[in-house]
Amino acid sequence: MRVRVIGGGLAGCEAALQLACRGFEVDLYEMRKGMGETPAHKTSDLAELVCSNSFKGTALTSAHGLLKNELKMLGSFLLQAAEKTKVPAGESLTVDRELFSKEVEELVAKSKKITLHPKECVDLISEIPTLVAAGPLCSDALATQIKELTGGKFLRFFDAIAPVIDSDSIDYSQAFAMNRHEKGETADFINCPLDKETYLEFVKRLQEADSVEEKPFEKKELFEGCLPIEEMARRGTDTLRFGPMRPIGLGKHYAVIQLRAENRQKTLYNMVGFQTRLKWNTQKEIFRLVPALKNAEFARLGCMHRNTFIESPKLLDPSLKLSNPQSLIPNPQIWFAGQITGAEGYTEAIATGWYAAWNMANSLLGKEELLLPHGTCVRALVEAITAPNEDFQPMNFNFGLLPRPERLRKSEKKDFFRELSRKNLIIFTRCCRKN
Ligand SMILES: Cc1cc2nc3c(=O)[nH]c(=O)nc-3n(C[C@H](O)[C@H](O)[C@H](O)COP(=O)(O)OP(=O)(O)OC[C@H]3O[C@@H](n4cnc5c(N)ncnc54)[C@H](O)[C@@H]3O)c2cc1C
Repeated sequence: MRVRVIGGGLAGCEAALQLACRGFEVDLYEMRKGMGETPAHKTSDLAELVCSNSFKGTALTSAHGLLKNELKMLGSFLLQAAEKTKVPAGESLTVDRELFSKEVEELVAKSKKITLHPKECVDLISEIPTLVAAGPLCSDALATQIKELTGGKFLRFFDAIAPVIDSDSIDYSQAFAMNRHEKGETADFINCPLDKETYLEFVKRLQEADSVEEKPFEKKELFEGCLPIEEMARRGTDTLRFGPMRPIGLGKHYAVIQLRAENRQKTLYNMVGFQTRLKWNTQKEIFRLVPALKNAEFARLGCMHRNTFIESPKLLDPSLKLSNPQSLIPNPQIWFAGQITGAEGYTEAIATGWYAAWNMANSLLGKEELLLPHGTCVRALVEAITAPNEDFQPMNFNFGLLPRPERLRKSEKKDFFRELSRKNLIIFTRCCRKN
């Protein structure tokens, strides 16, 4: 049977590979192959990582560690690709972005069941069952079609990208290599400390700085989990010192900016948590106030981008299938995955790509929905985007989404989540055997 996947990003590639594995002939559409970059994507590669090169933590006592552990058990292709191309970064799964995309390109090219169409897909309504994974920069033509098909229930908001620095331009006499709390065997972060006087000047300049002018449709609420640093600075002088510039676990410093390697060669470093929409010259001036960055050369400056997502709680059923009663066509054979569903984050995009693909396959093969048991991370993530919610906003996966005892002491948390992970493993094995 033939199916379509729109979008060759993280969710779309995972979905296409899973559908191919389940025996479907997959038409995978990726517009950047024909049209080049978007405001966030810089290449025409499949599964491009648009900002950070990190898939976050791996420890089974962290929410992202558990989610990745589940995806590993579920046989996620993109997680394997990430493991294969990882770079040292303490307890996080961080990859060489070029090698990662290359690995995914090869997996897609090797699959005899996937046909890659290097063009924009603009006909959402089709006789062929379709999985939409067009991401936060979904093309305008497709966005308009989704909007029409779903009776106008559509939202937009914006978030920001962090700057990247050429490693040769860092003044290492003013910086030190260390992981927070000295975790990990190698020191993977370069830390740029600021004394009180420099910090106060830095924050003052951020508070007074000009941002890129907002377009009228950008004047929406910013996503709280990804605030631009100037926005944080304006909320209070100490906000950054308790946020991305916190010195905890890094010795006695007033404030610290952490830099994380962007690639295996460590020629580029990302300013961790420094997403911004300041004007480019202003960014350079302010960031060069930091002693270690006084000569910094920026390979990429921070910027703002459109971030498109649908109102999933009103539009999708628990299998991520479009089930909107206001839809123009009865029972549309359309599933959604990735950032466009409001599942925010790279790992979350892969997780929903896997989940939507398996549910699409089961539905088309006349099998039961594969909702996965309560208490699993993937289920919790899907519930977060599909459960009724009048004030729906995109969501990263976090422990707050998982069911757990009401009063769990801090000391009990580690064991609780390790045990949860062990139970999930058993549940998954059963679920996957059934399908
Ligand atoms: C600016 C920005 C920065 C982000 N930074 C991070 C971060 O650092 N860490 C993190 O975890 N998450 C981040 N995210 C959130 C999110 O995890 C990523 O956007 C992630 O790439 C989403 O995966 P996806 O597969 O849904 O979308 P994408 O990876 O963007 O893939 C969608 C693909 O669909 C294609 N496409 C769109 N429309 C069409 C069409 N009509 N026809 C054919 N192809 C089409 C696009 O070209 C794109 O390749 C960021 C998001 C944005 C917008």
